[in-house]
Amino acid sequence: MRTAEIRRRWLDFFGKNDHQLCDSVPLVSSDPSILFTIAGMVPFIPYIVGTEKAPWPRAASVQKCIRTNDIDEVGKTTRHGTFFQMCGNFSFGDYFKEGASRYAWDLLTGSLDDGKYGLDGDKLWVTIWEHDDEARRIWLNDIGLDPAHLQELPREEIFWHTGQPGPAGPCAEIHLDRGPEYGPEGGPEADTKGDRYLEIWNLVFDEFLRGPGTGNDYELIGDLDAKCIDTGLGLERLAFVLQGKDNMYEIDEVFPVIAAAQEMSGKTYTLGTTTANPDDVRMRIVADHVRSALMLINDGVRPGNDGRGYVLRRLVRRAVRSMRLLGVTDPVLPTLLPVSQAAMAPSYPDLVENWDVIQQVAYAEEESFRRTLSAGTTILDQAVSRAKERGDDQRGVVSGEDAFTLHDTYGFPIDLTIEMAHESGVEVDEAAFRSLMEEQRTRARTDALEKKRGHVDTHVYHDLADKVGGAVTFLGYTDAECTA
Ligand code: ATP
Ligand code: MG
Ligand code: MG
Ligand code: MG
Repeated sequence: MRTAEIRRRWLDFFGKNDHQLCDSVPLVSSDPSILFTIAGMVPFIPYIVGTEKAPWPRAASVQKCIRTNDIDEVGKTTRHGTFFQMCGNFSFGDYFKEGASRYAWDLLTGSLDDGKYGLDGDKLWVTIWEHDDEARRIWLNDIGLDPAHLQELPREEIFWHTGQPGPAGPCAEIHLDRGPEYGPEGGPEADTKGDRYLEIWNLVFDEFLRGPGTGNDYELIGDLDAKCIDTGLGLERLAFVLQGKDNMYEIDEVFPVIAAAQEMSGKTYTLGTTTANPDDVRMRIVADHVRSALMLINDGVRPGNDGRGYVLRRLVRRAVRSMRLLGVTDPVLPTLLPVSQAAMAPSYPDLVENWDVIQQVAYAEEESFRRTLSAGTTILDQAVSRAKERGDDQRGVVSGEDAFTLHDTYGFPIDLTIEMAHESGVEVDEAAFRSLMEEQRTRARTDALEKKRGHVDTHVYHDLADKVGGAVTFLGYTDAECTA
């Protein structure tokens, strides 16, 4: 079943069950405190925390998400993408635990001919909070889950809250047993890597009010008047299961980029999620990162040196470098990006409308990175050789000065230096690098202050006047700027 069909069935099912169907909001959240949309519930937060009244009692969506905290897992687990789509259904004071659990079971195990997903209920496992008697009753008595497949967890492992006083509640997580070839028996509780018991759907039952406190140190101080349901199912995870693949990088929306990377590099990809051959991991990283970059640029993100722009820059750079490690030194995005666009466009037609701009931004970023690499790689190689030859206790460590030069003169961000150094088997003296950076910042601050006090450099204003073809009045610094 194609991913687009799984998404269609989701919306169909919840539409038929009276949910308002909502479009995905952009990856860039309107809330500046959140870098990216990380879950389906993000646009519904005001309704869930109760600061706004929901316009409908129930809603459903398939939300584009970016999770940068999963970047190191990409290509190594079966199930982590930096970009993925979260299918969600939500109730704002309407149905609660029983409704949400029944919907989930029905949609997952209902027959394919009825527009559902046709999973074998005997392979599903559910984890709940150890004190959630209501959930236990629903899963065992109402739904008829095998008691051996219900596992109970302490609050630290299965509770949702925002980290602040406000709504909180237990979850029920639904996992699929992929079989003995993926690990020992014992259910999701024992499977710390999540290889055999794949987490596919998280149901959050938002029913309590939590008090102040940090981490897991807080108390539940009451019940919510309007209990809410917030669920998230990983579209790519369900897709790889239904497509009979081993991981999310091999589904119809992602794998074509791996196929193109194989062709470009002349290397063969091994299906499955072994990490034994680093080339396989690299191809999975390439496919993931190219898709994430595509979707981020489409949503208006532009490469930059901090915040969202830096995440995009890092994704492009990792994709390009992974291809270099596969032996491809020519530009790669002009080949790979169109492949990813073609795979995603059926679900995101705006990728076609915005295609010219997307290409320009992506290819310019690769070009600029190619220039950075060609300027700095020799210097890095020399620094690595020096690190390996050192006779002191810093043997095998690239010095802070070298990392600083690479940053300051060649535009190598520190994480690039660290990543490339690791590939050559050496570490980087990050602490020394950071203190050199701090010294430089202090120097820059002092210089700027000197300039403001005395010799104000007005050449930029003259340049600007030349460009706009007229006089630009230099009003000088305001007091506020001078004392800043
Ligand atoms: P995991 O434990 O596997 O990292 P999670 O508990 O962090 O998943 P949730 O925050 O509960 O995930 O998100 C809801 C659902 O979204 C998950 O059950 C999963 O199906 C999907 N999901 C979460 N993170 C990713 C990701 N990085 N790539 C693909 N799907 C994801
Ligand atoms: Mg996670
Ligand atoms: Mg989890
Ligand atoms: Mg979860």
